[in-house]
Amino acid sequence: MEPGAETAACAPARYVTVPDAPSSPAAAAAATAAATAADPATSGFGAVARVAPGALAASYADLCAAAWPGPEQLPVVYHPNYNISFFGIEKLHPFDAGKFAKVVKTLNRDGVLRSDTQLVTPREATPELLADVHTADYLHRIHNHNFTVVQVTELAPLAMLPNKLLQWRVVAPMRMHVGGTMLAMGLALERGWAVNVGGGMHHASADRGMGWCPFDDIVLGVRRARRAVATAEAAAAAGAGAAAPEGAGAAAAAGAATPAGQADAAAGAPAAAAQVGGTAAAAAAFATTAAVGAAAAGGGLKVLVIDLDAHQGNGVGRDKLALGDGQLYILDMYNGGIFPRDDEAKAAIDIKVELKSGTEDDVYLNRLRAALERAALVLPRPDLVVYNAGTDVLAGDPLGRLGVSAAGVVERDELVWRWCRDVARAPIAMLLSGGYARDSAAVIAASLANLFAKFDLNPGAAAAAPAAPSSGA
Ligand SMILES: [Zn+2]
Repeated sequence: MEPGAETAACAPARYVTVPDAPSSPAAAAAATAAATAADPATSGFGAVARVAPGALAASYADLCAAAWPGPEQLPVVYHPNYNISFFGIEKLHPFDAGKFAKVVKTLNRDGVLRSDTQLVTPREATPELLADVHTADYLHRIHNHNFTVVQVTELAPLAMLPNKLLQWRVVAPMRMHVGGTMLAMGLALERGWAVNVGGGMHHASADRGMGWCPFDDIVLGVRRARRAVATAEAAAAAGAGAAAPEGAGAAAAAGAATPAGQADAAAGAPAAAAQVGGTAAAAAAFATTAAVGAAAAGGGLKVLVIDLDAHQGNGVGRDKLALGDGQLYILDMYNGGIFPRDDEAKAAIDIKVELKSGTEDDVYLNRLRAALERAALVLPRPDLVVYNAGTDVLAGDPLGRLGVSAAGVVERDELVWRWCRDVARAPIAMLLSGGYARDSAAVIAASLANLFAKFDLNPGAAAAAPAAPSSGA
């Protein structure tokens, strides 16, 4: 099917809710098998990559601490500064702010990584980059007012500390997570898969942070990825002697954050041009009114967010609505009975699955299979999947209140990765998001080890497929 036809056919079916009755796992398995059989030549994630190696290097130079990673490195992004340590005050919140280091340590110990040098080190997202989505007023408050940091982290004692300290130990690390998410999306487009060992701050929106989420790294990363791809496309077109929209590549190559309004107006430009049949007049209008926006739109990069954190991803939803982002699709499966219960943001969800507290493996995984089946039918084939893999679905998690076992999380993650590779045929960028149980880090490490083994992500590494940890039920 042609991409255009596929999109048109899917358009009327937006905003569906998956019914309560779990769908047949056999049907999902059959669909997966059929998709795989249809194209037996493609067995790995490299086959679903969207850009050539190195094509995005220049666009991400400001977010990459060293040179753009070569083949000896993995698209796994991590910085020690992800871990927040604040004289023990951070322990007043159930969030294990040191879990990211534990994940990496376990992957190293178990031979999943050959060494730390296989990891990619990000740089902090600057306030200028954050302004691509966040308002100037909010950025001023989060960077200057203790009260705003307290609202986001829910740690009242922080209010008593000098703001400079708060910035250094709390806000800057969170900006590092944003940089990591942005970089992971770029790496996923090149390699077919990537993991940010952090990120997934899905409660934050343009003018508000909440629930330990100060910045909307997901929408920031998506918009950055679109600009990066547009720059690469413009460069390739220029190299081929074709005329690229003037200034589009240059604007993006400079890494400039386009003001939101400007970018949004432009985001619709390619679609508008297509509607009038791609005439010269439309092309001219596109080039003159939306040169910068063309870069922001990224040639219409369609992104599907699969948000399986136990909480509704209301910040991403709010920003999708506010920005009028018609190329951002959301599958959100969460506990409907807990924070944030944001009805306004629910309008942004394309496939919504609300779970009851205590939901266990069988029901959870069946609902997920049904949702993915639905996504394959009603959503356009995405250019990128952003997988928000919260582990607060674990039984015993004090905030998520679901009943999924450690083995269930491992199976869930593998299901999503397999669906991306074999059914959606899209690159996947995985983010860790929430997870407040004591064994969250161990379960994340076990799941990553399983993914590495099943998909042979690090050929030559010592680790074999590990057993899921037995705790966490
Ligand atoms: Zn959560």
